[in-house]
Amino acid sequence: MIQQKVQVASEEPTVFAMATQQFNAAADKLGLNDGLRDVLGSCKREFTVNFPVKLDSGDIQVFTGHRVHHNVTRGPAKGGIRYHPNVTLDEVKALAMWMTWKCAVTNIPFGGGKGGVTCNPKSMSQGELERLTRRYATEISPLIGTVSDIPAPDVNTNGQTMAWIMDTISMHRGYTEPGIVTGKPISIGGTLGRTEATGRGVMLTAQEAAKHLGLSFEGARVVVQGYGNVGYWGAYLLQQLGCKVIAASDTRGAIYAEQGLDTEELLAHKTDSGSVAGFPGSDSITDAELLELPCEILVPAALEQQITGENAPKINTKIIVEGANGPTTPEADAIFYDRDIMVVPDILANAGGVVVSYFEWVQDIQRLFWEKDDVNERLESVMTRSFDQVLAASQEHKTDLRTAALLVAVERVADAVKIRGIYP
Ligand code: NAD
Repeated sequence: MIQQKVQVASEEPTVFAMATQQFNAAADKLGLNDGLRDVLGSCKREFTVNFPVKLDSGDIQVFTGHRVHHNVTRGPAKGGIRYHPNVTLDEVKALAMWMTWKCAVTNIPFGGGKGGVTCNPKSMSQGELERLTRRYATEISPLIGTVSDIPAPDVNTNGQTMAWIMDTISMHRGYTEPGIVTGKPISIGGTLGRTEATGRGVMLTAQEAAKHLGLSFEGARVVVQGYGNVGYWGAYLLQQLGCKVIAASDTRGAIYAEQGLDTEELLAHKTDSGSVAGFPGSDSITDAELLELPCEILVPAALEQQITGENAPKINTKIIVEGANGPTTPEADAIFYDRDIMVVPDILANAGGVVVSYFEWVQDIQRLFWEKDDVNERLESVMTRSFDQVLAASQEHKTDLRTAALLVAVERVADAVKIRGIYP
């Protein structure tokens, strides 16, 4: 069976070109010299594996996967693993670069990595997914490890996927190694608060942005594209604080309800039926219409390049909080800057996941586990401090929050490269 790859529309830059363009804007403002620009603009390691998996039918299928380290100067590579038909090396490289900046902007001691397998997990059985995961983990085992590279869940992977990876590597090494992945179930060394951490970070940064703009959460309309882990938890936590979630979508449909959606009931409906579509009391709309609904907070929490030069002029919100990685193209960013729409960039807005992953890794290494309140309080402190630093940089340099977040992050990584020096 040949995997279908959907190509990105040719007018859009590739995802890595987009990440590079964002980095160059910050590098220009920082006046980085050409050497440092080359170091920070390239991925240190790009590892591609083609590996066979036995399907339930008895057939064998060869899958392609990648694991990329963008920069590991500040610590081990950290980044999720994605299973999706559109995974490409280009996309994984961009996601790895964004991870470097995300860890630096929140000042946690990790570098940037990412992995992915080109596959359609929705058409695979649990047995096939387990065999694919265990084989992929084995193929990338030269790179991953508690002190070298620590994967986590991303699109279409979850705690179960991490448990299979942890078990596979532990079997090879002959001892249990919980610190090799984060986002694990609690029973094998996961942390309290990890599942909702990215959504909690979305909520916390939305709160800081709203505070800055003098916008009340009471009745504030929220629109969520992509009702998955990040989208659901972001929506749920915003609703808890008084916001009204009026629309949500997934790959199978988009819905709208002027009076607001009950986020928990919507999750139960999606879990039962496989989609948000058809939720009682809601109207069906298109995903394109969803993005253009009048609202106060728009949370893109699906995939890259959803908000472009084409739909940005029609977007009608005050704040965009990027739950997803790379949802907004540079062309759209420029439009939002002119239109005074605040974009809380991905490397800040969705950093809650990696911050709590860091807490999980620390607990695994120490074999000492924290209470949930400790996790949430520490997360809040990191997210609000990071937001304040980025806001201050945006005011100092008169830029949008994305460029400001990159200025903070790139400067930290550049300083680390300079002080360590170039080996030998
Ligand atoms: P997920 O698989 O749990 O959810 C993704 C959701 O988006 C699904 O409901 C899917 O149906 C929907 N979706 C996909 N394409 C869509 C489209 N074109 N239109 C509407 N809906 C669409 O994945 P997730 O973990 O929630 O990740 C979502 C995004 O957040 C990704 O960009 C990921 O890289 C980013 N992210 C995730 C984490 C994390 O901790 N899980 C951390 C940081 C960033």
